[in-house]
Amino acid sequence: MPAVASRRSLAERFAAEFPLSHQLHDQARRVFPHGVTHDGRYLEAFPVYVDHAAGGRKWTVEGKELVDYWSGHGALLLGHSHPAVVEAVQRQMAKATHPGACHEKEIEWGQLVQRLVPTAETVRFTSSGTEATLMALRLARIFTGRPKVLKFAGHFHGWHDFLIPAADPPYDGAAPPGIPPEVAALTVVLSPNDIDAVERTLKADPQIGCVILEPTGGHWGAVPIRGPFLHALRDITARHDRLLIFDEVITGFRVAPGGAQEHFGVRPDLTTLAKILAGGLPGGAVTGRADIMAHLEFRPGKPKMKHPGTFNANPLSASAGVAALQIVADGEPCRRASSTGRLLRRRLNVLFAEREADWIVYGEFSMFRLLPNYRGPRPDGDDFIPYNGDLNKLDGPRDVRLMHAVRQAMLLNGVDLFGLGGMTTAAHTEEDVERTVTAVAATLDSLDGERGALAP
Ligand code: PMP
Repeated sequence: MPAVASRRSLAERFAAEFPLSHQLHDQARRVFPHGVTHDGRYLEAFPVYVDHAAGGRKWTVEGKELVDYWSGHGALLLGHSHPAVVEAVQRQMAKATHPGACHEKEIEWGQLVQRLVPTAETVRFTSSGTEATLMALRLARIFTGRPKVLKFAGHFHGWHDFLIPAADPPYDGAAPPGIPPEVAALTVVLSPNDIDAVERTLKADPQIGCVILEPTGGHWGAVPIRGPFLHALRDITARHDRLLIFDEVITGFRVAPGGAQEHFGVRPDLTTLAKILAGGLPGGAVTGRADIMAHLEFRPGKPKMKHPGTFNANPLSASAGVAALQIVADGEPCRRASSTGRLLRRRLNVLFAEREADWIVYGEFSMFRLLPNYRGPRPDGDDFIPYNGDLNKLDGPRDVRLMHAVRQAMLLNGVDLFGLGGMTTAAHTEEDVERTVTAVAATLDSLDGERGALAP
């Protein structure tokens, strides 16, 4: 009965709705540290276990249908199990999963990258985005002879030693656990969007060889970056003879077929790619200026960056990537995903205004972020950046209990958020948007009922 149901706590209702997930997590805790295989999948008291997925939806082991905003951690612009991708992978699976040789699909895949990404002169495939940013940094070091990288607080470029500093709050300059201070000292961190600080820092430190960023803002737009900053950054890095690296692991093939560089008309020297690149399978790439990429070549007397990698350009990822990028090429999936994202943001902000809830949603393209405890102006439209882009207010230390409560309540109401936001795909529908708005409304009610438990 509803009256009884509403008296139960959120945690109790969550445990009752997902009993099989709970059981699986009990097993998983004996196998994996904290029972999870990716930090982002950690959820109190347990995460849900998913059995299968299609389009913009997925189903838990209990059979509960969820609107999915993880979208394969951003890898699935076409939605889950797009028929063309499934067919391509099945065909390749039967032919060869790893010929231990060059193969035709890798050429087709690389040619698609060259065709779509404006600055892609030559391409090298890796197995992940982390490997791609590691490669880009090493190439930059060889090319410039300068060991340091400049990055921005809150920008995530994978988990290797050189770029994990300042990936997450608090942005206090401390080296993350396990990173020797000598290594962390090679990574110079600035607040995003402060172009004068970039110029001052490049002038003052000749050891910095390159600047890397997520071109629409760190953590896929938590603190948005806009076109004028990108143009100014291009200008300053060129004037000071440093390389500019766009990490388009998220934005590549998403904001436009040619990524943020196509949308904003800015030409980085190197670009890192992953996620949509490989159509939902593992894969990454570095692409850009041929004279920099040439340091992967075997040239007598020239320094060469060694690059093996068992699964580089593996044919399954190549076949999925080719199938996906062929569909992305005309831009329609990017436009569809972005317009659904815009609709979702608009509908949610109307809901918050109607209910006078202290929440706002913001974002651009196919990315959205919910911001609880927001008090401030709420003009219409995607140009608005809450708190004037303040790093600590938009991407500072999180209220973990609130975040877990929101995710639990949303799951109970049939929506799986990616953190406190998510990514729309070309497969999400208006019905998904409406379901999400209803789920958020119900979540606000649930949180009202939990106020005591969630009080700071
Ligand atoms: N760069 C960005 C911008 C990312 O979002 C991610 C992953 N979320 C990475 C790099 C690392 O990619 P991967 O998880 O494939 O190593």
